[in-house]
Amino acid sequence: MKAGHAEVRTFFLDRDGTLNAKPPDGRYIGHPAELILLPGAAEAVRELNAAGRRVVLVTNQRGVARGLMTGADVAAVHARLAALLREHDAFLDAVYVCPHEVGECGCRKPLPGLLTAAMRDFRDIDPADSVMIGDTESDVMAGKAAGTLTVLLQGPGKPPANTVADMVATDLRAAVGLLLTSSKSGCVSKGGFV
Ligand SMILES: [Mg+2]
Ligand SMILES: [Zn+2]
Repeated sequence: MKAGHAEVRTFFLDRDGTLNAKPPDGRYIGHPAELILLPGAAEAVRELNAAGRRVVLVTNQRGVARGLMTGADVAAVHARLAALLREHDAFLDAVYVCPHEVGECGCRKPLPGLLTAAMRDFRDIDPADSVMIGDTESDVMAGKAAGTLTVLLQGPGKPPANTVADMVATDLRAAVGLLLTSSKSGCVSKGGFV
């Protein structure tokens, strides 16, 4: 991010691999019991809530288009997610889902449609003081396309990823800690590693 700029007001968060444990490749979380929060994730959302930041979930769920689960299944999983977060006094301000197949829409990340939909619904979201945080490069690309700051989460103990993200962090809590702290000091270095 540009040092000295305004604090980050809106946090766009990916879901699988960012808030909760990622299912294996080609699998989807179609049942609430399959949703397991990652360590520190709920605490990170609570920190954002407590700091008055907006938290918007943006998630690709192609399993719907593939007939592996329904939109109602996704809604049930998100009800469970909300309940788990509530146990930590944390909440999401909004949830945006792409249920589509690759190439069939403008909202499947790496396209920015989920973020731009939120910007239409919440007219005070400014991409210039927003961040997209996720565990894949498609999250980073969606954020870039929407004009936000971007953070790639890559897990602990790995060398710096090859990424176009503005920052890399081990997990959501580390990213949130950096962004909330840096907004006080007004300084985040591009390419920084948390
Ligand atoms: Mg992910
Ligand atoms: Zn879509």
